[in-house]
Amino acid sequence: MDLYEHQARELLEEHGIVVPKAEVTDVPQGAREIARRLGGRVVVKAQVKTGGRGKAGGVKIAADPAAAELTARQILGMDIKGHTVRKVMVAEPVDIEREYYVSYVLDRATGRFLAIASAEGGMDIEEVAATRPEAVARIPVDPGEGVTTARAAEIASAAGLPPQTVDVLVRLWDVLVREDALLVEVNPLVRTVQGRILALDAKVTLDDNARFRQTRWGDDLAALDDEGDALEAAAAEKGLNYVKLDGEVGIIGNGAGLVMSTLDVVAGCGARPANFLDIGGGASAQVMADGLGVILADPGVKSVFVNVFGGITACDAVADGIVQALETVRLTKPLVVRLDGNNAVRGRTILDAHRHPLVEQATSMDGAARRAAELAHAH
Ligand code: GDP
Ligand code: MN
Repeated sequence: MDLYEHQARELLEEHGIVVPKAEVTDVPQGAREIARRLGGRVVVKAQVKTGGRGKAGGVKIAADPAAAELTARQILGMDIKGHTVRKVMVAEPVDIEREYYVSYVLDRATGRFLAIASAEGGMDIEEVAATRPEAVARIPVDPGEGVTTARAAEIASAAGLPPQTVDVLVRLWDVLVREDALLVEVNPLVRTVQGRILALDAKVTLDDNARFRQTRWGDDLAALDDEGDALEAAAAEKGLNYVKLDGEVGIIGNGAGLVMSTLDVVAGCGARPANFLDIGGGASAQVMADGLGVILADPGVKSVFVNVFGGITACDAVADGIVQALETVRLTKPLVVRLDGNNAVRGRTILDAHRHPLVEQATSMDGAARRAAELAHAH
């Protein structure tokens, strides 16, 4: 479960990391009042569970309370990567001298954590990591040893961070351990013109498996769920194995492995997957209809790719399922279907005969992915 920025920063603050003063509101007038309390000039920030808010126009400086209200009015209701902004955080502005990047993330491959840090943090960190990987330090952290002051000093020095950040690195590790997080990320961690170190943004992903002992949240997390979580909740209610992602190509497949590789192939075609959805072995009409329903309800979805490899479940049964599903679900976006394996030809014939104007077929996984990407971009 991802936390909103305002929830994540609360955790950081409790663990002694300094954050700018801020309050949250869901109405423009509220932003005006908060700005007045904070001294006039403020930063208005969209609260959505996705990154890149700055680039999407979801983080803006307002010069006075009236401007804060106006800015909040612009940002509230905005769509950022398929997430509607329902709340804004209004924060004390900070005079930034330098932006750093620091995070701890679980590295499943090595069974350890990874500290990732860079002296070139901020909105372009992805580009820095891609073009100049040497500017981003990656240091393994043994979960048993944790981040001691000595280890934090190593991380800071490898990344070229000033010595004042060592304390933050230790405290951030405390956040990860005590709050049962899989990821804690601060980007940017800043040094202000006055020489203070502040966390200006925070991202925390909690480990859902530890929810039973993280009682602090109570019903808070459920109450603050956003649309992505609402889709996941709707899918969970129907027993679907669904994870919302930020892209534009909806994906349905049978088998977790096939769905994972479908995400990769779609990404390889220059599009971004909108979700993970494994309909498993049965692929009944009901499951197909439920899956399509959830995917089509995602405003970010522009096209849908159904990728089925018939094994024990034959493709003609899947095709029947799709045809029946299309009788109950109103298809509003183009659907590309790739059927292969057991009884593929029969399955394709069934879909051809159905002649739905928004349904296309492709014979290969690559071809289908390319087509789905193309259709998503044509939108
Ligand atoms: P993100 O784009 O979703 O990661 O949102 P951030 O919270 O990281 O904000 C994006 C950028 O806005 C940061 O990298 C900063 O450069 C800038 N920013 C955020 N808060 C402040 C602030 O208080 N003062 C100034 N001058 N810039 C800020
Ligand atoms: Mn950020």
